[in-house]
Amino acid sequence: MGKKVTTAITPTREEDYPMWYQEVVKASEMAEKSPVRGCMVIRPWGYTLWENISSQLDEMFKETGVKNAYFPLFIPLSYLEKEAEHVEGFAKECAVVTHHKLEQGENKKLVPAGELAEPLIVRPTSETIIGESMSKWVSSYRDLPVLINQWANVVRWEMRTRIFLRTSEFLWQEGHTAHANEEEARERTLMMLNVYTKFVEECLAMPVVRGSKTPSERFPGAVDTMCIEAMMQDKKALQAGTSHFLGQNFAKGSDIKFQNADKQEQFAWTTSWGVSTRMIGGMIMTHGDDDGVIMPPRVAPSHVVLLPIYRKDEERAEIMAYTQALAAELRQIRYHGRKIVVEIDDRDIGGARGWDWVKKGIPLRAEIGPKDMANDSVFLGRRDKSARDKTGVKKDTFVDGLCDLLDEIQDTYFQRAKAFMAANTVDIDDKKAFYDFYKSRKGIHGGFAMSHWCGNDACEAKIKEDLSVTIRCIPFDSPQEKGECICCGKPSNKRVLFSKAY
Ligand code: AMP
Ligand code: ZN
Repeated sequence: MGKKVTTAITPTREEDYPMWYQEVVKASEMAEKSPVRGCMVIRPWGYTLWENISSQLDEMFKETGVKNAYFPLFIPLSYLEKEAEHVEGFAKECAVVTHHKLEQGENKKLVPAGELAEPLIVRPTSETIIGESMSKWVSSYRDLPVLINQWANVVRWEMRTRIFLRTSEFLWQEGHTAHANEEEARERTLMMLNVYTKFVEECLAMPVVRGSKTPSERFPGAVDTMCIEAMMQDKKALQAGTSHFLGQNFAKGSDIKFQNADKQEQFAWTTSWGVSTRMIGGMIMTHGDDDGVIMPPRVAPSHVVLLPIYRKDEERAEIMAYTQALAAELRQIRYHGRKIVVEIDDRDIGGARGWDWVKKGIPLRAEIGPKDMANDSVFLGRRDKSARDKTGVKKDTFVDGLCDLLDEIQDTYFQRAKAFMAANTVDIDDKKAFYDFYKSRKGIHGGFAMSHWCGNDACEAKIKEDLSVTIRCIPFDSPQEKGECICCGKPSNKRVLFSKAY
């Protein structure tokens, strides 16, 4: 006791950020650990968020001409060998299926039986199996481009897992395209990164830095990996999405060939791009506070919760009727194309009820008691304000102003995150200052350092070894500028983004 303000979540972000994250996820009822190590159970509050993310992204993909398809969960082992770097990158984290049935062995224990002639891997990503289809679909330049996306689950046997951020099984979309020339494929790679940027900034309210990965951080087999990097509140970076220009590497592996207009046979140029349930973890870590999750209105599972308050049973019918009528009115409203989703929570659990919704991050909480009803008002709590800071609002004002209010809240979150990222991004030119920047204080380090790099793998590796700091990307908007490599002092013409990362 005798502490400052009590918070709904313990520990606070400052006290123990990783533990805060776990507690926030749990308290919001978004997801939980499963009996299978590294895999999660996504509960309705988390899954509805994923549906809102995927449906909006899906619409954006389709606007660029992409169509959805579905490919098998299993990939023949030999397919993975088609691209040399690809094998090396994924072999260490592949789940392998070797048998196709079970038999009762000793003590009636079930044992695998019926060994497969060729083992199957559970897809860690689908370039190779989609490439197989593309090779059949494409024979002339007239068959190109092929613009495919699939919504699926994939498995990467990750050693250190964390709910949403890095799980062994995760949900994602993977886009795969094939083109008749390099320029068009490169354009597509950037186009999809632009889609991700727009979605993440406008809907998840997460500001990002856009750029290309260094060769050592590229997707296995890619010629260029573009990414968006966001800053979490512990100032670590999170790679929130990637778009890969694969050159002709995978087309050669999968034999995606076509005849061009001059009747010459050529390999296609391919791309792939993906975002996953990791974005949810990123959203939580960008916006959440010591009272729990904060849902940006554009993706929030529900926008408003109505909390009827009555003491006597006689009041109940009237209050509930008023509440139901208000809900019906609100549900007529469309917010950015989606109908307003209203919850009515009439559980008789006292103060815990309001807090449950704070922890879930719902944008608006409207209490409705006899006095509010008599005034034709609601008593409104906003998730962008302190939980105790509630105000009476006329019902009509609330209904008419709802969309503007949600937009205002959305913008508040984005501006707040943007200011945080700006405040914790610094140009550093001195090696000692750079090393000091990454000395951690209670697990928190300096943030994003924009520093010069000579382009040498060895310098990148040295910094990673010394500080666990990596080059997150070579930002697109980093200007040409003469400088000296932060590691070796050799000439450099561009600053790159360094950070600790998830
Ligand atoms: P990649 O195919 O490696 O470029 O990854 C595609 C997307 O999936 C990226 O946005 C990654 O951040 C995300 N991702 C990669 N591995 C995991 C994982 N283990 N759990 C959740 N998301 C992941
Ligand atoms: Zn160097």
